[in-house]
Amino acid sequence: MERISSFCVDHNALQPGIYLSREDTTPSGDVISTYDIRMRAPNHDPVMSITSAHSIEHLGATFLRNHADWSKKTIYFWPMWCRTGMYVLFSWEPSGEEVVKIIQEMYAWVAELDESYPIPGATAAECGNYLDHSLSQAKNDAKKFLEIIKDKNTLDEYKYL
Ligand SMILES: [Zn+2]
Repeated sequence: MERISSFCVDHNALQPGIYLSREDTTPSGDVISTYDIRMRAPNHDPVMSITSAHSIEHLGATFLRNHADWSKKTIYFWPMWCRTGMYVLFSWEPSGEEVVKIIQEMYAWVAELDESYPIPGATAAECGNYLDHSLSQAKNDAKKFLEIIKDKNTLDEYKYL
């Protein structure tokens, strides 16, 4: 089997940031853009807790799917299971500046949520592991990442192996 392209990125050189991972064209001609939202330096920083990544998934997906401009363009948002970040898929080729801006907006929203905000979809009927959530951990992780990305206006670039 060939090594897939995302494994060719030098993870030891990877710093927290926002990266374009793939651009794929579907058979019907639509472009799907995949971004790595790298919240921790791989193999260096402590990883996120599963609980935090799970809550960021519920919160971020809800934010994007309710966003006036981005709801129709968002395909999916979910955690990397190395627990160093999240992925997001958009259904066209946004500019790097647009992507950085919406991700800053999303993390700022999570970071600033009131402690009493109910995590969306966190009931037994709505989620496969509904007790495994923590708003405070999600808010802390969002704050940490926002500190890193708050002054960025372009995507970061990969170093390849
Ligand atoms: Zn869930």
